[in-house]
Amino acid sequence: MTPQEQVKLLEMQAKVKTDRIRGYYIKKRYGITLEQYNYQYEQQGGACRICGQVKNDLTIYCAPGVKTAAALLCNRCTLGIGYLNNNPKLILRVSQFVQYALDIDKKSSPAPTHENTAPTAQSS
Ligand SMILES: [Zn+2]
Repeated sequence: MTPQEQVKLLEMQAKVKTDRIRGYYIKKRYGITLEQYNYQYEQQGGACRICGQVKNDLTIYCAPGVKTAAALLCNRCTLGIGYLNNNPKLILRVSQFVQYALDIDKKSSPAPTHENTAPTAQSS
């Protein structure tokens, strides 16, 4: 075996070991197999479900208290959701506030607060 073949073999062995460890972690933490993860990754085109950024490694997002994985997200989106306590109402208010801040020079409406941005069923 040439040194180049030896290096290739070691790289392949390392990848198999890494995949095995990763598969074990994914199964234990999220209840899906590495094959299911890879299928989902392929279905999403390697892109985060929220921001669309293509990443080599996406995080499995499960809402708190829910057993089924919803989608694969990038770390930034996963952390953002986590910092906002996985709370859709709070996340919507943040979105409204950021839009207000971006448009602040264009209009003179009052800043949204937790009182005047409480989402309703008609909110879009
Ligand atoms: Zn993202």
